Amino acid sequence: MEEIAVTRTAHGPFERIVLAAPGGKRGAVLSVYRAGDTLFDAGGSRVAPVLARLLAGAPPRRIVLTHWHEDHAGGVAALRRSFGAIPVHAPEEHVALLRSFDRVPQYRGVHWGQPEPVPDAIPYRSGDAFPAGPVEVEALATPGHTPGHMALLLRGAGRRLALTGDLYVTDRPLTAWWESAADDLVRSWRGMAAGSAFTMLPTHGEVREDGQRAFAEVADLVERAAELVVEAARRLGTRDPAAVAREVFGPEGDFAHRSGGEFSYAAFARSVLDPVRCLPPAPVRLGPPPDADAP
Ligand SMILES: [Zn+2]
Repeated sequence: MEEIAVTRTAHGPFERIVLAAPGGKRGAVLSVYRAGDTLFDAGGSRVAPVLARLLAGAPPRRIVLTHWHEDHAGGVAALRRSFGAIPVHAPEEHVALLRSFDRVPQYRGVHWGQPEPVPDAIPYRSGDAFPAGPVEVEALATPGHTPGHMALLLRGAGRRLALTGDLYVTDRPLTAWWESAADDLVRSWRGMAAGSAFTMLPTHGEVREDGQRAFAEVADLVERAAELVVEAARRLGTRDPAAVAREVFGPEGDFAHRSGGEFSYAAFARSVLDPVRCLPPAPVRLGPPPDADAP
């Protein structure tokens, strides 16, 4: 079995299980959460054997997915081989996609593991509730990272906790926007920042007690960057995301090209100029890689 570092912490009724596999600059690190017999997100197939072993003492009886990406849903089938055909709940926009989700680009497959399809996910909508130990979480539509993305909010017991999936991934999110809509994401962030104080429990990165502030800051940053994109598009007289991104952010790095444009400034520019509202989106077209015309 692959060497995966595991960290487990408690946050109200949730147990956070962080699974860190080697790879890339920062490793392939993701979290899943468990409360009672509900597992929130399932991780990727790469960490599934380790996660199945960790959960074996108190097996989950249902899985709730924040969205369909391979680092959240890719390990579902492997977990179900250990725990039986437990129900899997997915945002309604993602149910059909999950049926045939068996391959992602190689650079993602190496990092998280190739996903296995989920043929029978049960659709859920904003406002639906799920058991989380002695209490419940309520789904809240938080589109923008991908259409259909959901956060799961726990209220009560004097503390508000939010499972935010990939709603918040980093404090400088200007790449990884291949399925994204900047305006939706800013609205999702602002909506949560305007509510009552909450602790953010994300899939990637640190737990933030100041969830409202984290969301407000990232919304400000992305709004400013989006304004630059809109101005540059006007100035250049083009809506080509690659050309506009080059003007605003400079040349793309190597990783942008290796990701086929998925992790690129151009993907951010597209999320502003041509926001993704339905899946799957067209690929993001970059210009030639930096060394394309080198001798
Ligand atoms: Zn994601």
